[in-house]
Amino acid sequence: MVGNVLKLARLQDGPEIFHSIQGEGVSAGVPSVFVRASLCNLHCRWCDTDYTWNWEGTPWEHERDQEPGYQKFSKDKYILNVPASEVAEQVAQFPCLQVIITGGEPLLQDKAWQEMIQCLMEKNPHYRFEVETNGTLIPSQALDEAVHQYNVSPKLENSGNKTSLRKNADALSFFAQSPKAWFKFVITKEDDLTEVEELITQHALPQNRILLMPEGRDEQSLQRRRLWLVDLCRDRNYRYSDRLHIQLWGSKRGV
Ligand code: SF4
Repeated sequence: MVGNVLKLARLQDGPEIFHSIQGEGVSAGVPSVFVRASLCNLHCRWCDTDYTWNWEGTPWEHERDQEPGYQKFSKDKYILNVPASEVAEQVAQFPCLQVIITGGEPLLQDKAWQEMIQCLMEKNPHYRFEVETNGTLIPSQALDEAVHQYNVSPKLENSGNKTSLRKNADALSFFAQSPKAWFKFVITKEDDLTEVEELITQHALPQNRILLMPEGRDEQSLQRRRLWLVDLCRDRNYRYSDRLHIQLWGSKRGV
């Protein structure tokens, strides 16, 4: 398996690969190397990586449309094609064996991740890989065997995606049955809980691997929502996730 190319998000002159601390989900606080895939099959209206999918000429709406000067992105400028083996070389430069494959939607590029993972495992078999996904695509068996953890974030109505796009029963059932999967829901209002609980029931999501996280691309929105969401998590017995990277660095990329 050689010669696969990854479409990654561009950050300045190179791909978005950086060493930081995981900011959200069950691995929050763990030092990690992040590799950000470009391309997504959804178009969430509050997405903070809109430069991976909100391309010029597409009809998708985004909350930032109201911001003066906000424009859709040029694919030529924001996608970098990098051989998977070269991505592995760049990841291996960091003194860190925890790798977060994120996006966009990484599972759109299944085969190329397999090659990157294989290259890294040949360097050091103690690497650990987490995949962040929106839970609409099923990974191949080969990728599944190589991945240690899935951070699955099924999208709710508040994302603005059509139900048929954001909900794939087979994929949800795959992740529900995987002992490697944790589920993180982005919450904008208390009513979102009704939808979360329907999904848990309909797809037998494991109650003890659910996290609720406030939506917010800045500290003020997070603070408004975390105040009631923490109470809700306590009362309904869900794990709470904050967004540490927003508290620390706001919307700055690559940190
Ligand atoms: S699934 Fe994730 S990357 Fe894709 S649009 Fe939604 S928030 Fe953004």
